[in-house]
Amino acid sequence: MSPEDDRDELRLPIVQAGDPVLRRPTRLVPVDEIASDRIQALLDAMIATLSGVGVGLAAPQVGVDLRIAVIEDPPEYHAQMPDDLLEAQDRTPVERYVLINPELTVVDAKPVEWFEGCLSVDGYRAVVPRATAVHVRALDREGQPFELDATGWHARILQHEIDHLDGCLYVDRMLTRTLVDSESYSERWGGDAIDHVKALFGAD
Ligand code: ZN
Repeated sequence: MSPEDDRDELRLPIVQAGDPVLRRPTRLVPVDEIASDRIQALLDAMIATLSGVGVGLAAPQVGVDLRIAVIEDPPEYHAQMPDDLLEAQDRTPVERYVLINPELTVVDAKPVEWFEGCLSVDGYRAVVPRATAVHVRALDREGQPFELDATGWHARILQHEIDHLDGCLYVDRMLTRTLVDSESYSERWGGDAIDHVKALFGAD
């Protein structure tokens, strides 16, 4: 079996908005359970589920109310994006990693606005203001503590995923008048300046 098949075998269905699990705060993972087969298998399944479809996945999105998220922003995702957009979004590749029991602190609250989507709100995008820079403390899959600082797109991903762990979806924070369906986002709005989109939709 190739690693690709193995990955597909492990994929879990992604829960969509409407399931209460997405709206409940999650439970901390007891540190002495991190090494258990149950948690390690969940991490592998979450990694497989995220692979190739998104930049972050939180446990409630696979129906599990635990404080766990997986992040990755591989270079393949950036290949089709214009360099000036990547630069404006301060978006650089992020190697896959796991967050267990993360705590997020805002380092620079200055809001940055970009379109955002969510695997659990399939088919839509909206402009969401997010803090410029954050600091996160968490445990890795061996249960070891680590800390990281993130800015730009990586900081956005962290805010989005850790929001999930508190029962919050991007629709709670979006500029509601900028909600668009994914098709029109791809065709018309993805390359447009956010200020222009906001003005057109009366979202100022
Ligand atoms: Zn999401």
